[in-house]
Amino acid sequence: MDVQQGIRYAEALYQPDRQLCRALDSIRLRGMPEISVSPGYGRLLTLLVKMTGARDVLEIGALGGYSGICLARGLPADGRLLSLELREDYAALARENLAAAGYADCTEVRVGDALASLDSLVAEERRFDFFFIDADKVHAPDYLERALRLSRPGSVIVGDNAFYHGKAFNPENSGPGAAGIRLFNERMATDPRLESTLLPAYDGLTIARVKD
Ligand code: SAH
Ligand code: MG
Repeated sequence: MDVQQGIRYAEALYQPDRQLCRALDSIRLRGMPEISVSPGYGRLLTLLVKMTGARDVLEIGALGGYSGICLARGLPADGRLLSLELREDYAALARENLAAAGYADCTEVRVGDALASLDSLVAEERRFDFFFIDADKVHAPDYLERALRLSRPGSVIVGDNAFYHGKAFNPENSGPGAAGIRLFNERMATDPRLESTLLPAYDGLTIARVKD
């Protein structure tokens, strides 16, 4: 069986989504990297936020706000999304797309290096019940460690690009991004504080729950 064919079959079942198409068009028009989360996993993010009843969601890596829209769609009326993004221009587009989708009031895109922002949140003793880790892969293990510090029992931690476009399992790739995502995947799989699984479609997605 061909996995790619399965993905194409699944995608054809869903109508094009106006807000998400707008976000993808805006990213393409600006010449930004076209690395928004895959449509199937975007839908999964919405479902996971809804199914877990998460109110405080933290995203690491906003790009143009595509995954932010998916996360915000799952929030209850009093829920909030905080998204961390290194680049001011990307953050501005993410805010614009989140606002166009109707989520200006319940979302914040904070500019700066994610590690510094995460350390501030740790110092403030903030807590989140859902994390989407999707920034640079070099620091993915550090983002996971900070997420654990910001979590509660039952919090959900999702990591995108588990395969890192094949670099994760190519033994010849010893770059820092490949090393980072491998360590992240290993920790998601084996950290005694977590229960997890890895979904192997698209570019791979890891989902973990912080044990009670
Ligand atoms: N989550 C987005 C895609 C994120 S792409 C989506 O699916 O729609 C990765 C993003 O992480 C890029 O926007 C990049 O600028 C950002 N990034 C890279 N290094 C970072 C860092 N050190 N701190 C915060 N953001 C970073
Ligand atoms: Mg990604």
